[in-house]
Amino acid sequence: MAAFLGTKKARKLPDVGARNGWYETLPAPAEALRIQGEVRHDWAVIGAGTCGLAVARRLAELHPDASIAVIEAGRVGHGTSGRNAGFMLSHHGVGRIDDLEIGRRSIRLFTLGHRYLRDIVEQHQIRCDWSDWGQIYVSATPQGAAHLDVVGKGLESLEVPIRRLGQDEMEAVIGSRFYDRGVRLAGSALVQPAAMMRGLGATLPPNVTLYEDSPVTELRAVAGFRLRCPEGEVAAGKLILANHVFAEEIGFARHRTVPIATFASLTRPLGEAEKAHLGAEKQFGLLPASPNGSTVRLTLDGRILMRNTMSYAREKRFDADFMVQVEGHHRHSLRQRWPGLGEVEFISTWGGVMSFTRNEGGIFGEIGDGLYAVMSPDAGPMTRGAAAGKLLAEQIAGIDSEELRIMQSIPKAALLPPDPILRFISERRIKKFEAAEAAER
Ligand SMILES: Cc1cc2nc3c(=O)[nH]c(=O)nc-3n(C[C@H](O)[C@H](O)[C@H](O)COP(=O)(O)OP(=O)(O)OC[C@H]3O[C@@H](n4cnc5c(N)ncnc54)[C@H](O)[C@@H]3O)c2cc1C
Repeated sequence: MAAFLGTKKARKLPDVGARNGWYETLPAPAEALRIQGEVRHDWAVIGAGTCGLAVARRLAELHPDASIAVIEAGRVGHGTSGRNAGFMLSHHGVGRIDDLEIGRRSIRLFTLGHRYLRDIVEQHQIRCDWSDWGQIYVSATPQGAAHLDVVGKGLESLEVPIRRLGQDEMEAVIGSRFYDRGVRLAGSALVQPAAMMRGLGATLPPNVTLYEDSPVTELRAVAGFRLRCPEGEVAAGKLILANHVFAEEIGFARHRTVPIATFASLTRPLGEAEKAHLGAEKQFGLLPASPNGSTVRLTLDGRILMRNTMSYAREKRFDADFMVQVEGHHRHSLRQRWPGLGEVEFISTWGGVMSFTRNEGGIFGEIGDGLYAVMSPDAGPMTRGAAAGKLLAEQIAGIDSEELRIMQSIPKAALLPPDPILRFISERRIKKFEAAEAAER
């Protein structure tokens, strides 16, 4: 199986905007080590998100004599893995799966990824506010309640312990009667994602070199692989693509994933009087049962995170006018839940791009001679992405496990129609949810 022929040039490089509220609350990072001149490594991993850092870490542990380069276009923690809502899920989406066996297998991967990340955070004392608070799925309207019912029943049939909450109990947790129902479960963690990613990058084994601010602009398959960056070149025997939605921009996994953007805003820390508008818990994490709902967090340092709004994102860029609209949505959602906090400033509003497949499929494994790919799948991307990275390194090293066999049994992401058909279908679906379930936002 040839890796590929000729040269592949990146059509687009990551540039989803400078803002990322989580990252902005961290101290400035040390200067980046960039690719300069020619460097040689046994392995190169493109992308330092949850998948890329997990595969590099595990590969390095299993091959202590190999030298591994992780090459990241920006700074670790600034990309999607550091700009999400910070749920490190041990269960998710499984409530919506009809086939129980698929649900059980999915939980195995969630659990593996959650434990893997938690163990690293604990072992290296990574300061990222990791706490196993769990999650509450929420609904505010009859349409949302129908989705919540499916989630609750699915989790129960998988014997995941849940607690159903009514409006009073929801109010006790968050201090607002906005939601009329919730389904609470334990296990998942809430974290500061940019801090976690930076910590994961800083604690890689010694045989991994992390290069940042080094976008790979061109790939050639000659005597292994040659990766061109603005100031130099990497020669590597083997290559792992962990560059998520940007894989298609450099010629791989094309027409296999739907790029969907979503957006978040983070407030400044609330003062003591403002906190009186909230409930009894020092932090919380709410996930919407409706696809049009909002993910909401109260962080341990007293900020509110609001995530909602989706858009088809083939361009992987957001224009300034659209970001103003998004901020308006987040402001509205804040006021709806807590009128008394409706004017608290957002320190930042930002977006990121996720990938969905048509068949809950995967992109995982060897795709050419010495060439591998790993991408986080639709449901529970951070933890399952970490699990996928770890398992890919184990597959390469010939280490078998039940989880690896589960991973290998996930069907390949199915082919999708090209644009403008895919854009039309995706935008119509998003609009339908926005219209029918507007009050969930
Ligand atoms: C607002 C928002 C909220 C979310 N909330 C959650 C949540 O709470 N929990 C959850 O599990 N998931 C959440 N997600 C989804 C999750 O963050 C992503 O699915 C996950 O981070 C993808 O991980 P990854 O490693 O596959 O890709 P990424 O994190 O995107 O990593 C890929 C890396 O590759 C780099 N790259 C790309 N091209 C190149 C190149 N040519 N050269 C060098 N480097 C390159 C990119 O800069 C990037 O850092 C959310 C996403 C968004 C946008």
